[in-house]
Amino acid sequence: MSQLDSYTPTSGSTDLQIDHYDLDLDYEIRPNRLTGRAVLHGRVLAEASTIELDLCGLKVSQVLLNDTKTRFKQTRAKLVLHSHFVADEPIIIDVRYAGKPRPQRGAWGDVGWEELSDGVLVAGQPNGAATWFPCNDHPSHKATYRCTVLVDSDYTAISNGELLEVTRHGSRTAWTWESAHPLATYLATVQIGAYRRDRISPAGHAPARVPLWLACGDHLWKQAQDSLGKQHAMMTVFERRFGEYPFGSYTVVVTDEALEMPLESQPLSILGSNHLRAGWNRERLVAHELAHQWFGNSVTPHRWADIWLNEGFATYAEWLWSEDSGQRGIDTHAREAHDRLATLPQNIVLADPGGPGMFDDRVYMRGALTLHALRSLTGDDVFFRVLRSWTAENRYRTVSTAGFLDHAERVSGQPIRSLLHAWLFEPRLPRLP
Ligand SMILES: [Zn+2]
Repeated sequence: MSQLDSYTPTSGSTDLQIDHYDLDLDYEIRPNRLTGRAVLHGRVLAEASTIELDLCGLKVSQVLLNDTKTRFKQTRAKLVLHSHFVADEPIIIDVRYAGKPRPQRGAWGDVGWEELSDGVLVAGQPNGAATWFPCNDHPSHKATYRCTVLVDSDYTAISNGELLEVTRHGSRTAWTWESAHPLATYLATVQIGAYRRDRISPAGHAPARVPLWLACGDHLWKQAQDSLGKQHAMMTVFERRFGEYPFGSYTVVVTDEALEMPLESQPLSILGSNHLRAGWNRERLVAHELAHQWFGNSVTPHRWADIWLNEGFATYAEWLWSEDSGQRGIDTHAREAHDRLATLPQNIVLADPGGPGMFDDRVYMRGALTLHALRSLTGDDVFFRVLRSWTAENRYRTVSTAGFLDHAERVSGQPIRSLLHAWLFEPRLPRLP
């Protein structure tokens, strides 16, 4: 099998396209036991006698291929199916599996399905999806999802897209979520906790066009409402700057415990209880995660090397929110980030920072500065036209740095590629224009 991405060399398959995942999960919290059925709809891209899915730490009991039992084998991180696969013929892969899901250790720490003290969190980026369902784990392979999670009725289970149905079966409750908009495997999620779930009140801000939801424990409810009400104003600012919000709603899940970093999913984000405290350092993260719905989730990098298209844009969104909400101006943020970068080693290339370095702070800051440099060169009107048409033309798709440069040149009529060359492709930090 040829490699899909050198940043995550063991994940994903070039030979397979999955367009839809239908997941039925039964999860018992105390013993941490997951029993799952995953039905994958897709096709094989070239004739083959085996295909591989990513699956890690869970035991498969049966695989049906177009309703017929098929031979399979499991390695540490792959489920290998043996059959005669014909190119482009539709296939339905029906996998029964079970086990005690746990995160996968990698260059980025623990990723995947993780037990909380009273619930579950999934942190899928970049390659943790295989810890809870068989998949073709790479952002270039987006798919639609339906996910039902059966849990004890004291718990709420949240997944991607919109909530379709909540059905109580005695002491247990099934939560069915559906994402009609395609999503990358790293954004596929399940969040389980003793959560109350309701709308976020605008609390003095003009209500956003899009419904905003909150899920968290009762003891955090008031603090979360107070600290997240400003998302109504953020949503309005970002829709003006980036174009229409790409999904039907936005949810923030706040876990009972502190988290090192918030996480983005689609169309939701996960914050730790520590992220609710007042102050710019938390508020910026709330803005950052919301901005990922446009940059990262709707418009997704085709390869991990282009991660600045997520993180640079989401970091720039923090600065935009700061300025538009009457806090510090964007030039101040840019100058501070530039000063800070100037003191750090200048040995990474923004448009190819390397697998272990892709979540380095320098990618975030320099990515935002690259956008600020672009804005200085084009002026505000053209710059925001570039951003809005970028999110509109690439909605629900995957993109690359080269594609962004082509796009910016076309919209601005200026030689953006050469103007941004040093920012994107040379390690040395350029001067701030
Ligand atoms: Zn981010």
